[in-house]
Amino acid sequence: MLEGKTAVVTGSTSGIGLGIALALARKGARIVLNGFGDVEAAQAEVAATGAKVGYHGADMTQPEQIAELMLYARTDFDGVDILVNNAGIQYVANVEDFPVEKWDAIIAINLSSAFHTTRLAVPGMRAKNWGRIINVASAHGLVASAQKSAYVASKHGIVGFTKAVALETADTGVTVNAICPGWVLTPLVQQQVEARAAQAGVSVEEATRRLLGEKQPAPQFTTPEQLGELTAFLCSDAASNVRGVAWNMDGGWVAQ
Ligand code: NAD
Repeated sequence: MLEGKTAVVTGSTSGIGLGIALALARKGARIVLNGFGDVEAAQAEVAATGAKVGYHGADMTQPEQIAELMLYARTDFDGVDILVNNAGIQYVANVEDFPVEKWDAIIAINLSSAFHTTRLAVPGMRAKNWGRIINVASAHGLVASAQKSAYVASKHGIVGFTKAVALETADTGVTVNAICPGWVLTPLVQQQVEARAAQAGVSVEEATRRLLGEKQPAPQFTTPEQLGELTAFLCSDAASNVRGVAWNMDGGWVAQ
């Protein structure tokens, strides 16, 4: 289905980004990975699907490095047909205690990096009259939680950015959409569960149960595989007129 297309997935060395990269690779796309940590394991996992896979280690807080990532995809992978803006971080504190550098990093990685990749990807997509931009927002792009001011601001911001660029490209074959996961058990959430377990003096299992129960009617996590399939659908011909949506897959979180 995606034979001959190149997908750049930011923050794809673990978690949701890796799940999306794998789903797109299985549909035949060439994959450019990005992110930190165990790069070799992520590359090996994607390569095992038979897809061509590359990697660029751009730090998503740095616009010049983002430009280098996009240039790498253009020169070594024949352009960017699918752009998945997924890299993201979290920090939890009341606003009066929120470290300024954490605010700046969250806005840079979760929001501004998508502006930089998108502005560099759109001209090539317009030229081919085909493109897919999928922004990994969050249930926190639609509703808020206390102690997550930077994260909620960045995710509401990316939902708005998604709509604006979807309108700018609405008369082309380029679509721009956001997906809004609920809880997904990735390193980003594992850290929050462990911090809650330590704070409340309960087991990790109990902290997990409480974390899910606070927000989600459904008592289970969404998986990176499910989000990969949703992303693959948004890349399909069937989704060619889905434009500017913020599509939640969240165990009923925002239906309440
Ligand atoms: P994760 O920690 O497993 O993955 C984050 C990825 O981003 C990693 O590959 C990491 O190396 C990369 N990254 C972090 N900082 C970076 C930087 N400066 N430059 C480049 N790459 C960087 O987390 P995840 O849970 O898979 O999160 C992925 C996305 O999904 C994020 O945007 C997150 O906000 C969103 N999300 C997660 C959940 C959840 O429950 N896990 C829910 C909703 C939305």
